Amino acid sequence: MSIRDNYKEYAEMLRKQGATLVAVSKTKSVAQLQEAYKAGCRIFGENKVQEMTAKQEALPNDIQWHLIGHLQTNKVKYIAPYVSLIHSIDSLKLLKEINKQAAKHDRIIEGLLQIHIAQEESKYGLSFEEAKELLHSVTIKSLNNAKIVGLMGMATFTEDTTQVKGEFERLRDFFEETNAYALPYVDCRILSMGMSGDYEIALQAGSNMVRIGSAIFGARA
Ligand SMILES: *Cc1c(COP(=O)(O)O)cnc(C)c1O
Repeated sequence: MSIRDNYKEYAEMLRKQGATLVAVSKTKSVAQLQEAYKAGCRIFGENKVQEMTAKQEALPNDIQWHLIGHLQTNKVKYIAPYVSLIHSIDSLKLLKEINKQAAKHDRIIEGLLQIHIAQEESKYGLSFEEAKELLHSVTIKSLNNAKIVGLMGMATFTEDTTQVKGEFERLRDFFEETNAYALPYVDCRILSMGMSGDYEIALQAGSNMVRIGSAIFGARA
């Protein structure tokens, strides 16, 4: 199957389920992204600032660029002019920097809090407790150019679907809890969970945004 056909198949399937598809194009060439673009793809996910910026410059302006990988504070300035959604906000320090850089461009940048739900220690993200603290901090209320619009999480890389399901459901529960706080400065509407290997479980658990890479573009080197 071609990138074009893969994209169309996933886009159609996810549209029916009411979930947004982020086509994860990290490590893939501009020509490969163009194939997906021609098939209708307008949301691309990248995990590296430099790579995303180079692709953003090479591709049409009606694309929404999502940063899905760990973001260092000193690199926010490079994506601030154009980034559409940052999935990987994992500290108040980073959120403040996003706010500062967004203000320079007279924009409001939207982002998701990345929550650590996997067992693996290597993955980034906040604990539920840390996220709760951040959401209720005094500082967040004053950040007029950075807005939290939801949560992102990655499940453990395992064949144990019961475990994956449990991790996604815990995040879904926290998403609902966050909504119930009804914080005026938070618009908790996006729950970003699921990748090529576990998106079905994620959707069952309530995900409304999935990040699919290899199933569309093929395996990465
Ligand atoms: C690479 C990546 C994905 C996509 O992974 P696939 O298994 O290729 O679908 C999704 N989310 C994040 C955060 C990633 O880094």
